[in-house]
Amino acid sequence: MLNVPSQSFPAPSSQQRVASGGRSKVPLKQGRSLMDWIRLTKSGKDLTGLKGRLIEVTEEELKKHNKKDDCWICIRGFVYNVSPYMEYHPGGEDELMRAAGSDGTDLFDQVHRWVNYESMLKECLVGRMAVKPAVPKDYHEEKKVLNGMPPKSQVTDTLAKEGPISPSYDWFQTDSLVTIVIYTKQKDISLDSVIVDHEDNSFRAETIIKDYSYLTHMELSHEIQEDFSVRVVESVGKIEIVLKKKENTSWECLGHPLENHNSLIPKKDTGLYFRKCQLISKEDVTHDMKLFCLMLPPSTHLQVQIGQHVYLKLNITGTEIVKPYTPVSHSLLSEFKEPVLSSNKYIYFLIKIYPAGLFTSELDRLQTGDFVSVSSPEGNFKISQLQELEDLFLLAAGTGFTPMVKILNYALTNIPSLRKAKLMFFNKTEDDIIWRSQLEKLAFKDKRFDVEFVLSAPTSEWNGKKGHISPGLLSEFLKRSLGKSKVLICICGPLAFTEQGVRMLHDLNFSKEEIHSFIA
Ligand code: FAD
Ligand code: NAP
Repeated sequence: MLNVPSQSFPAPSSQQRVASGGRSKVPLKQGRSLMDWIRLTKSGKDLTGLKGRLIEVTEEELKKHNKKDDCWICIRGFVYNVSPYMEYHPGGEDELMRAAGSDGTDLFDQVHRWVNYESMLKECLVGRMAVKPAVPKDYHEEKKVLNGMPPKSQVTDTLAKEGPISPSYDWFQTDSLVTIVIYTKQKDISLDSVIVDHEDNSFRAETIIKDYSYLTHMELSHEIQEDFSVRVVESVGKIEIVLKKKENTSWECLGHPLENHNSLIPKKDTGLYFRKCQLISKEDVTHDMKLFCLMLPPSTHLQVQIGQHVYLKLNITGTEIVKPYTPVSHSLLSEFKEPVLSSNKYIYFLIKIYPAGLFTSELDRLQTGDFVSVSSPEGNFKISQLQELEDLFLLAAGTGFTPMVKILNYALTNIPSLRKAKLMFFNKTEDDIIWRSQLEKLAFKDKRFDVEFVLSAPTSEWNGKKGHISPGLLSEFLKRSLGKSKVLICICGPLAFTEQGVRMLHDLNFSKEEIHSFIA
């Protein structure tokens, strides 16, 4: 029997309780894990009750299906019968019922925009929403050949009303090169503000401008070589993407617009874009942590800012599964960096392999040369939070160490005002401490840095700090170097650890601006 009630899953401290948007997950019954759901979808059982038929659903029809045992939800125009999925939903049945019989797109985007529902719920697809009569599109405008001047009608109207940002693009050519110029009209633009992918016939440049994404997306009129260069003129917010022509002929036009070309969309409303990256190496770090090195495709320009994460996607028994991971530097110490692989083409991840974990056990099975899809970066940490910083305090538990790696490297190298950087690192046992010897060497080498390990399940030989995050440990640890020094505290780990920690920090009178919690 599938539905045997048993011990609650996940365990109260399990990392499974990490939920997007700071929301808690509910215990799932045994036999109701994601892997169990995938098995059910492959069983051939009719999950929609429509025997494989797809129907057009009117709003009136959708509204009728609003009960737990008959629950339809619309996401981006597609209607799913989610009743069979109720017991498998990590956020619980009540959470799903909030969207019962209605359009759940906004709710879904708020909570877990990154979850690949098309793949997860494909056996629950009832059909499409019936289309209401709409103003016909100007077909000729969409198909218009680009000559370098953006068709104005395609720039999202709402934006013109909302703010000053109105990016545009242009292009010019020489015998051998084509240069696409994006005018962001913003000054804080850098090389990591633009992500470029050229794959098959599609050329895609996504420029992140504040909380918006400006897309240049087209089928180029002629072939180009694999590699291209990206330059940024920060003073005027101009981005130049220099493409190499395959043949030295003159191009009459740049190409044809593809989906969302020349549009500026709030970042939260854009889908995740993935490219396939090759596994270059996989090294043991602790008994269950590995350092993965992935190589970006040659025709991708992507740099992950510090404090940001990406999503990795794997096809697990026919279902696309997506999970977030935080890229790290190759090491904490410069002398360990040899042989260093160009940081622009390689992305490193420290990943803990959970033996019964759905995604990590599959990742662990990958061999050098295999491919993993990697999304564009996300996250709300801003480098500006480190400017003029004097004291940096990092509170990490388990793999919550990962965002701290780049923050620490950046602060020690690029923030001249920094007087003190301290890490308090919570783990179960000594064997679980990631990069312990690197951390100790760094503390020896750089007098501004100090590390303290706290263990929750140490052996009797452990002489260091023991227990869990507590007000006592924090008040002793968080001593400013000067009375009013500018301080930032970053905290990351299991959701409950982070939430408790933030509460304690507020009780210790640290302000909101002085705390950055990593809760995705
Ligand atoms: P899951 O399948 O989610 O399982 C997790 C645990 O539950 C395991 O212990 C597993 O044994 C247990 N379990 C699973 N199914 C059952 C069941 N039916 N009954 C009982 N127990 C069960 N992790 C990193 O390692 N490195 C990172 O850089 C990193 N960055 C992250 C960034 C963000 C923004 C977030 C939110 C998370 C990050 N994580 C990171 C965590 C990561 O996203 C995954 O949650 C983690 O890798 C576990 O995934 P999994 O599918 O392997 O495990
Ligand atoms: P772990 O090994 O299970 O735990 C690490 C330490 O934290 C242990 O000492 C553990 O104590 C303690 N701990 C666990 N839950 C706690 C709680 N509720 N209160 C106080 N202490 C607690 O951790 P892990 O398996 O590496 O998991 C790390 C978590 O970080 C995952 O949930 C992952 O999703 C999250 N993460 C988030 C981000 C992000 O950016 N948001 C990035 C990376 C990782 P016990 O021995 O008592 O369990």
